[in-house]
Order: sequence, then C-alpha cells, then structure tokens
Amino acid sequence: MTNIPWKDRGFTLSPSSWNNFESCPRKFWLSRQRLPRKTGMPAAIGTAVHDTVEDLCNLDLLDRDGEETGWLPRTAKQLLRKQWEEERESFFNTPRHPAWKEDEFEKAQKLLIGALNIMFSKAGRKSVALATISVDEWRAIQEMVLAAEGTLRSTCGRLMGRLDLLIAERDESGETIGWIVADLKTGRAPEDELYDTVSRQLRLYRDLLAENNPGHPPITTEGWYALNSKVYVAEGPNVLEDAFAAWEKMRPTETPLPATPSADACAFCEWKAWCPSWIWARAHGELEVEGVFRDEVVQVVRIEDDGAVALVERMNPVDVEGNVVESGQRFGVVVRGYARESLRELLDMGWEGPVLFGSVNVGGSSWQLGDWCDVLPWKPIPDSGELPAD
Ligand code: SF4
Repeated sequence: MTNIPWKDRGFTLSPSSWNNFESCPRKFWLSRQRLPRKTGMPAAIGTAVHDTVEDLCNLDLLDRDGEETGWLPRTAKQLLRKQWEEERESFFNTPRHPAWKEDEFEKAQKLLIGALNIMFSKAGRKSVALATISVDEWRAIQEMVLAAEGTLRSTCGRLMGRLDLLIAERDESGETIGWIVADLKTGRAPEDELYDTVSRQLRLYRDLLAENNPGHPPITTEGWYALNSKVYVAEGPNVLEDAFAAWEKMRPTETPLPATPSADACAFCEWKAWCPSWIWARAHGELEVEGVFRDEVVQVVRIEDDGAVALVERMNPVDVEGNVVESGQRFGVVVRGYARESLRELLDMGWEGPVLFGSVNVGGSSWQLGDWCDVLPWKPIPDSGELPAD
C-alpha cells in the first residue's frame, strides 16, 4: 500500500501527530499508512480563514493612501473568496469528502471578521467595524506581526510546528517588550480554559521558539478563537522533554502500534474501516454505544431504486483481527447524497465484502445514510500488520 515504507521515511513529531498518538497509538499508526484521506467543511473553512489572515498580513499597501478607509471589507472578502475557491478544489481532490456547502462561505466571513477583531484589539482598537480601519492602521497591525504561518523546528529536526502568528508587543516608545505566539482557532471555543491538547500544542510552539531564539523577550502563548473573538492564554511547564520522549515511542514500525479504544479517541477517528479494535471492544462492552449516529459494519444484501434504498445485514466481529459474521439482524437503509455515490461506486467496483457505514443514523424505522457518512470497504489491518488486498 505504501511505496516507500514508513520506517524509511523521515519522521517529525507535530502537535497533531502527537495528539493522535496520545489519544490512540493505532490511530497515529494508521494515519501514517497513506490510506485514503478524509476532509470536511470545517477543515476547508478553517484553512480558507487562516490563509486569508496570512494574505492580509502580507498585503502590499505601499502605494495606498494611508488615510483611506472602507477598503478592508472589500479586500478581505476578495482574498477570502480566492482562498475559498482553492479550498474547494483541494476538497474535491481529497479522496474522502462529503458534499461541498457553498452557503458556508458566510460562516467563513464571520470567522474572518472574528479573527480580525482580535488583531484590532491587540493593536488597541476595541470592537470596530472593518470599514473604519484605515490603510495606516492596517500597516501598524502588519508591523506588529513578526511572522504569519511560520514553521518552527527543533535543531535536531525531530519536532516541528506551524505557528499561525507571532506578534510583537511593544511599549509606547516602540521597544519590543514581549512576543505573543498566537494560534487561530475556527472551531468551538472552550467554556473557560483551553483544551489540554490545544494548550500542549501552543506550549510546544512557545518552547521551540524559545529554544531557537536565545535572548528572546518574554513569550505569551494564546489561542485565538475566531467564533467569539476570545483569547485564551496557555500556561504551564515546558513540554519539550515530553515531546522528545513521545518522538521515541512514535518511531516508524512495520507492525501496528497498540490500539486503545475509548469513547473520546474513537468518536471522530477517521480510520475505523482499517481498525479491528473498536468493533471488538464495542462487542465486549468496553466501548459504550450512545446516540442515534453509529458506526456499523454491514453486508449489503440488496440495493434498489438506483441506490436510493438498500437492505443490509449487521455484521458482528468474531475475533480481534476484524473478521465478521452475519448477525441475523437486517435493516432497511435510505441512502442519499455523497453516501449514495460512494456506495454505488463501491458496488460498481465489484466489492462484495462487508462495508463500514460511519455515522449512520439508526434512530428511525429505517437507517439513514447521507452526506455526513463514511461508506468504505471494511479492510481491518490485523495486529500482524499484513495489509488487506485491494
Ligand atoms: S477506531 Fe478507535 S481504536 Fe481504532 S484506531 Fe481509531 S481511535 Fe484507535
């Protein structure tokens, strides 16, 4: 499945790979196997907003009248639109993607405004309309930004991170009195303090920055949540020692790392079709099943109405390797949107084995598969690491 074995490729710990490893080593291992990747609207919106902030920070304003106002809403929207189009293209080039929601552009605009409001507040302007920001005021903000989308690496190359913004804090005389490492977040904001995973990510940036810049000014580390324009400070001990220890444990291996199924780790794991552990843990009461959205491994018995409805049989695991057998429980499924396309494609390719339905709604008299669902061939990779045939 992989052209160059993972063990022969270089390996660098990033905050996201570290988080994956801590939540479930198998999840991390699977993420390195070049399996078909998944994307969704939240990721597309987040990238479009991040890249637009970067574009605005690097915008060339040399020939503009410093007094001019009213330019920022128009420019921000144009830049966001450009990034949006690029994201749409990359979305459709990602093997696993749901339907594209064009009307979410409005949400991206709101998030961009939220992010810009935090930047204004850092420049001493509280809650202002974008249209009132003059070219000179934006130049002052640009001047405050020491780096937008910078890569940080440990000198040995084992650790890396991409920080969104490095901001200079200056006193009234213009002297730099501190640095702010800012990570822009477009997801749900925490209620009071940063999630542990985000705090650790931010502290990794902080500690790499400090390590690479002896004599640096005091560094503050902040998560900027665009949704509510709120800033959360990450505080705590240095994480480099822990990161290097994790890097040692995350070294590439031919055989899968252990799986540690749990409600938190498995909930949004995108590698379930290749993992035999969650279904085995669930069958043995070690993983609770809650809510109407479930992951199910099924055998398609019949498909009708050009793929709009199907009859499936739930499959139960018989061993830790992911082998499954019929349960005798059959369900009617209404199949819509992206799920319908995926199921049709799979059956047209001649796949006759079990199928993973990710997040199928089992709440009604018929199951519901829609744009939000994964429909994938069930190809669990056993502990031996022997990859299933394509
Ligand atoms: S489904 Fe659960 S156990 Fe399997 S890799 Fe993902 S997180 Fe780990």
